[in-house]
Amino acid sequence: MDVIFSCTKCMQELVVEASGSGSEIECPSCKTSLIVPEVDAANVHTSAPIESSAAAKEDVHYSVPQSNKPVEPLIKSALPTLEFAKDGEKTLRIKTIRRTDCVEVDRDRFDERVSEFLQAVGEKNIVSINAVNYSHEDMKSKAMITDYGVLIVFKG
Ligand SMILES: [Zn+2]
Repeated sequence: MDVIFSCTKCMQELVVEASGSGSEIECPSCKTSLIVPEVDAANVHTSAPIESSAAAKEDVHYSVPQSNKPVEPLIKSALPTLEFAKDGEKTLRIKTIRRTDCVEVDRDRFDERVSEFLQAVGEKNIVSINAVNYSHEDMKSKAMITDYGVLIVFKG
């Protein structure tokens, strides 16, 4: 912060660091001794616009979109499908087939469904087939029953 004032004799404009207020200086132009005036609104000069920019910043209100809604993912993860990738783009996948999912009107199509899946994947793409046991509540008896299925690891 500087004080700007003029020489009382030659009117040379002088800029002095505000900390020099009240001290005596010699006019570089006419060599007249001058007392550096006190800082006031009329003569203050801010060389670097620090204060003004700081004030400006205070007036800036950054607005952030706010919403009470739960954040929704912009990209929904793709549901796993049985559409198999082309050769060369195959990755290891897992398909679990539960026997209860294959029962239609008391007709057990488990073996049929598993066979269909295996044929769709292709023998060369089958990595392993593992039996799995699980428990579920029977719709009719409401009893917990143990059932079985297969977990197929395949390339697709
Ligand atoms: Zn002067």
